[in-house]
Amino acid sequence: EVFNGAVEAAAELNAFIVATPDHALAAADKVDAARAAGAELGPMAGVPIGMKDLFATNGVQTTAASHMLEGFVPPYESTVSQKLWDAGAGMLGKLNLDQFAMGSSNETSYFGPVKSPWKAEGSNATLTSGGSSGGSSAAVAARLCPAATGTDTGGSIRQPCAITGTTGIKPTYGRCSRWGIVAFASSLDQAGPMSRSVEDCAIMLGAMAGFDPKDSTSLDAPVPDWAGALNADLKGKKIGIPREYRMDGMDEEILASWQAGKEWLRDAGAEIVDVSLPHTKYALPAYYIVAPAEASSNLARYDGVRYGLRDLPEGAGLQDMYAATRADGFGDEVKRRIIIGTYVLSAGFYDAYYTQAMKVRTLVQQDFHKAFAECDAILAPTTPTPAFPLEEMNSDPLAMYLNDVFAVPASLAGLPAMSVPATLTAKGLPLGLQVIGKPMDEQQVLDVGLAIE
Ligand code: GLN
Repeated sequence: EVFNGAVEAAAELNAFIVATPDHALAAADKVDAARAAGAELGPMAGVPIGMKDLFATNGVQTTAASHMLEGFVPPYESTVSQKLWDAGAGMLGKLNLDQFAMGSSNETSYFGPVKSPWKAEGSNATLTSGGSSGGSSAAVAARLCPAATGTDTGGSIRQPCAITGTTGIKPTYGRCSRWGIVAFASSLDQAGPMSRSVEDCAIMLGAMAGFDPKDSTSLDAPVPDWAGALNADLKGKKIGIPREYRMDGMDEEILASWQAGKEWLRDAGAEIVDVSLPHTKYALPAYYIVAPAEASSNLARYDGVRYGLRDLPEGAGLQDMYAATRADGFGDEVKRRIIIGTYVLSAGFYDAYYTQAMKVRTLVQQDFHKAFAECDAILAPTTPTPAFPLEEMNSDPLAMYLNDVFAVPASLAGLPAMSVPATLTAKGLPLGLQVIGKPMDEQQVLDVGLAIE
């Protein structure tokens, strides 16, 4: 009965693409058997989680919310999901997302947008649960599952968490294996947990992270016991406030939430210091060159031959099949990124766009490196606004891209970054605060998150 109720609620939000209750029940049975045998239980024992439908799951359809991969059933399991099953978790289903993880509102999904369980006071408008991990944020916010996986290329864990009052962390680039995750922009893509608390995130990240020889960019470093070491006492710590994140015309409620965050951290013993990240304003344009460039290369594999959809018109040749398959299989936003990506990588424009963006990326990384000489972690807003109504920004890609303005710098620099619920707006909508840490210093990020929570 409880399960059927949850299925109805899930259907209402459109959070899941497929439900896999048998997977979760099998995990629960395994936990029972292990307990009966007196065996040690894993850190995720019996926890039923949602999996963003970007992770390949053996025998379970994996679509990246695209028509291109509709019906694709991988014969293998992603490293991150396998680690979660090995830690005792089970899967309730595959969660909706923006198509190929491109978007900030879940509206690019072939399976339709996810609806947030939140409403603004005095309004009946259906709000976005964010993107691209919008199925994950909606499912956790609506209490359909205690935790879910997300991926973050330029904010896709942090932004959906911030606007749904949930907690999520993107670890240092390389902490979680990308093997078996549908690739968007390989130098940026990272998996991470989305859940209801900092502690749950710490436990789940511990299960997801670790070296994987199958991913050439995987970090060969031990996974610390983040959950065991959690400590909200920030005495002796310095928290940097990046002055360039204070932008003209910024939403007053976002500023107030940031201010509240500073005070909470001061109460927790931290010293608040001013830091500068001078190249912040170039990060967003650089991201929207680098990410589409890599996407155009990664998505070349969807050619109608190797995976998923094949459109073979009567009498068609190979080129016609490519064209028909790709025209039909990719949504508008995915096509836009492929076209931007091929343009910025083309011989005549490579130096003007791609090389330039890579230089900006290095400058953004150096900004953080210098700032971290003066502080232990950085505090900033996660998003420039609270959740917005569906359809409001859908026709304006640039306005949609602006949503990522505070999220992409940490992505370009490969840094661990987390969003933690902070305050509510006057209309009762959640706002998140972002904590950015030094490379490999997830512990500091989680500790500051705990002090905010
Ligand atoms: N919203 C950003 C984009 O559309 C980030 C997406 C992501 O992190 N996967 O590219």
